[in-house]
Order: sequence, then structure tokens, then C-alpha cells
Amino acid sequence: MSRFLTEKHNALSPYVPGEQPKDDQYIKLNTNELPFPPSPLAQRLAREAAGTLNLYSDPDCTVLRKTAAEVWGVDPDEIMFANGSDDVLNYAFAAFCDEKHPLLFPDVTYSFYRSIAALNHVPYTEIPVDEEFRIHVEDYCSCGKNVLIANPNAPSGIALPLSEIEKILISNPDNIVMIDEAYIDFGGESAVRLIPQYPNLLVIRTFSKSFGMAGARLGAAIACKELIENLNRLRNSLNPYCINAMTMKAGIGALLDRSYFESCLKRVRAIREDAAGRLREAGFTVTPSVTNFLFVKHPSYPGKEICEDLRKKNILIRHFDTPRLKEWARISIGSEEEMQAVLETLLGLLKEKEDA
Ligand code: PMP
Repeated sequence: MSRFLTEKHNALSPYVPGEQPKDDQYIKLNTNELPFPPSPLAQRLAREAAGTLNLYSDPDCTVLRKTAAEVWGVDPDEIMFANGSDDVLNYAFAAFCDEKHPLLFPDVTYSFYRSIAALNHVPYTEIPVDEEFRIHVEDYCSCGKNVLIANPNAPSGIALPLSEIEKILISNPDNIVMIDEAYIDFGGESAVRLIPQYPNLLVIRTFSKSFGMAGARLGAAIACKELIENLNRLRNSLNPYCINAMTMKAGIGALLDRSYFESCLKRVRAIREDAAGRLREAGFTVTPSVTNFLFVKHPSYPGKEICEDLRKKNILIRHFDTPRLKEWARISIGSEEEMQAVLETLLGLLKEKEDA
């Protein structure tokens, strides 16, 4: 660290993203990307936009917001776009959380929440999920603090019903309740339809998962107009052109191409259910994930070893070296062929281990 770094940033512990290999020798199932390319329409519009890159992009994202508003059933003024949902989270933490407005989130969840809280000097409390990684909403009701819940949660993949989310919203009218819906399109009920009733609700979405656009960096905040105005104050004070022209057009194309979107989701769900069934048959515990990943554990094959052994076979999955998760491994849902290869390899490794 240089002596020039300001003191307030000394204690940061930045998020460690999953590995992004520079060659394509791997079957890459470690960062929950969609195994399919973005919609052909999204790709075409992005290519067309490449020819306009001499100009600044529209800071208001006018057409993108209008298109998203129609698809999501809200008003364009109820949406703010930013550079990935991580960026949205940063604006939300900066806008609504501080020493006077601390935050609660589950102890097992997206670990980036801790990094972003530290960056924004937001005090937070982690509420333990139960042994099966379930969130109990009573822990968050009438808490007098802001709340952040990923629904479905990661890395468990388990979703809370909307009626449970609503209990948190009703009982904390003076606090912001943020629902990170990164994986909602793969399963679970979106909280977006509750926005007209709850001015304290902020829903966060990403195009990185169900729209297959992780490399484009596009995320959205969806909330009542007042909260969106607050977020825009911050966004426009820092980086008003944060959505580049190609990403903006790709986002429009991805939203308009409903049939491609639906067919990708259908495939992911079918592959997930098939893989979960085969893993359970082989003795794995598999959480009831409604997302595009599976969280698995085997009584005689620790998650870390699975991850290391698969890596030697050119397959990347994710292991979290934390006390509650160290037995487990997370496998993103790949294409039919990728998943077939992973399951064959993994079950083969397990057999070798059991025969040894
Ligand atoms: N929320 C959750 C729960 C996630 O798992 C991720 C990505 N792994 C994100 C948000 C961030 O997504 P992005 O910044 O790519 O939109």
C-alpha cells in the first residue's frame, strides 16, 4: 500500500471475484453466467451502436428505461440503470445507509455486500441463516434498520415467498428494504409488483444472469419515483454516462427479444432440475435452488477437494472457504453438453474415491 492512500481506505477488504480464465480451455461454471450468448437482437443493436461511440451515451437511458418499464410493469421514472447491479448497490448504500441507518443482511449471502458496506462506512449486522441456509424473516421484522436480502439468496439458491418479504416491508416502514433479484428470472416471485404499495422498497436487478450480458455491465434499481430520484442524485454526481451506448442498445434488444429470453430460462431450469436429481441420486445434498446454480455437499467429498479435482480436469466451479460453507461447492448451470461433462466427471471422481 502506498503512503498516499487516505487513512479511511486502509481497512478495505475488496471483494474477490471468481476466476476469469484468459483462455477457453475450461468449462466455466464458477461465476453464474448464462451459458448461452446474449440474444441475437441484443448483439445486432450493440454492433450498430459501435458506430456511434464517438458520441456520449444518453445519460437518462431514455429508450432503455421506457423499454424496461413496459416489460417490468412499472413507470420509466421508477427505474435507474447503472454499471451492473454491484454499481446499483454502491449507490444504494451511499444514498440510504450510514451510522444512523445501519444495515442487516444474512450471514450467508453475496459476499460483496460486506465490501460495499466497508467502502461506504456502513455499519452492518449479519443475521445467521439456519442450518439449511434458510432466512427467517422474523429476524428482520421491526428491526429499525435497513435490510438487504438477495432473493433468491446466494449461494444457497433458496427463494423467500413474496408474502414473507412483505412482512419485512410492512414492519419497517421507516427503513429501506433492498431486495437483490439477481436470480429472480430463474425462479421465485419478484417484489416489483409491491412497489406501488411500499415507498421503502428498492428492488435491484441485473442483466448479467438471465439476459446473458455479464460482460456488458448493466444493472437496474426499481423503486418508487422518490427513491429513484435520490439514487440519481448520487449517480449523476459521480458518473452520469455510466451506461455505454453499446450496452444500452444491447439491453434494449435483450428486453425486446422475449422468446429468446424465455427459451434460455426454460433450458436453464430443465438442466438444473436434471442435474439436481442426478446429484441427489449420487448421495449429494443439494439445496432447493431456483436459480442458475446448484449448491451441493457430499458426506465423503469436501467441497474444496471437489473444486480442486474438477479444476485439474479443466472444469471451474466455486468453493467458499468460510466456516459455514467450506463443505459445500457451487456449480453454475452450464449448457446441456457442459453439464453432462461436469456430471460425468464429478460422478467418476466420486466413484474413484469410494473405490479407493
Ligand atoms: N447480486 C448477486 C446476488 C450476485 O450474485 C451478483 C453477481 N455474482 C450480483 C448481484 C452482481 O451482479 P452484476 O454486478 O454483474 O450485475
